[in-house]
Amino acid sequence: MNEPVAKCPHCDQPMDRWAIPDELPFDEDWHWICFNDECPYYVKGWKWMEEKFGRPASYRHRQNPTSKENGPMAVWSDMALRNGIIKP
Ligand SMILES: [Zn+2]
Repeated sequence: MNEPVAKCPHCDQPMDRWAIPDELPFDEDWHWICFNDECPYYVKGWKWMEEKFGRPASYRHRQNPTSKENGPMAVWSDMALRNGIIKP
């Protein structure tokens, strides 16, 4: 928990540690996720998912703290996943 807070490459805001649920195939206990509702990646995601799948959903920027690999984390509302945020 001592490593510096990672910043989102899309909005430059500090990301939150998010506890990985058991059903996800990651080895880590947590990943960085950008929970900024103004993040352009997240904002654009709503439009993209609507056009592509015709349903309200988006994704937030996620980063693996070990490998630094980046990926999307799908969400279905602006409150989704927030209960997994690990308070500093
Ligand atoms: Zn962001």
